[in-house]
Amino acid sequence: MEWTKWLREIPDFPQPGILFRDVLPIMAHNDAWQEVLDGLEQRIKPLAPDAIMAPEARGFLIAAPLADRLKIGLVPVRKPGKLPAPILSETYSLEYGENQLEVERDSNLAGKRVVIVDDVLATGGTVAATSRLASRLSATVVGFAFLIELASLGGRSRLDANALVTSLLTL
Ligand code: 5GP
Repeated sequence: MEWTKWLREIPDFPQPGILFRDVLPIMAHNDAWQEVLDGLEQRIKPLAPDAIMAPEARGFLIAAPLADRLKIGLVPVRKPGKLPAPILSETYSLEYGENQLEVERDSNLAGKRVVIVDDVLATGGTVAATSRLASRLSATVVGFAFLIELASLGGRSRLDANALVTSLLTL
């Protein structure tokens, strides 16, 4: 089984000129999805993380089974206005305009080793903002793990040089 056969490419989404890599068909085929989770687990485990952080929403779908396999905590990072408890917020740039990500202040991350996961590393803005939230919660980001890295967008260079940055597929 090669999970990449279920990766679907959607031209001109969400706007003209963007080739969107759709990972949902991979999740819909459990043998392919298990292969992805096995690969990410193997790469993350040696970092001995205490917790996983992941941005909404596809990041959650990857982070939850990984945190369960590794028996470690999961801290969701959400779009604005979703979290009920006191939050920390980070702003990051998009191609047009800005966006924000939020995390609960009381996330039990102080002094912890954190791995950040998401489906796709593009410009790196999303996970860089997630990493800043981790730092503000006094955690140490030891790694970033992705299914897919879009190398031409240079996201890797925006991430903490002391952390492992790993992707199952580089395009
Ligand atoms: P970045 O902040 O690195 O520019 O963009 C990464 C974020 O946007 C991730 O949360 C990811 O889910 C989403 N994203 C950007 N491009 C793609 C893509 O081609 N496919 C998918 N599935 N997500 C993308």
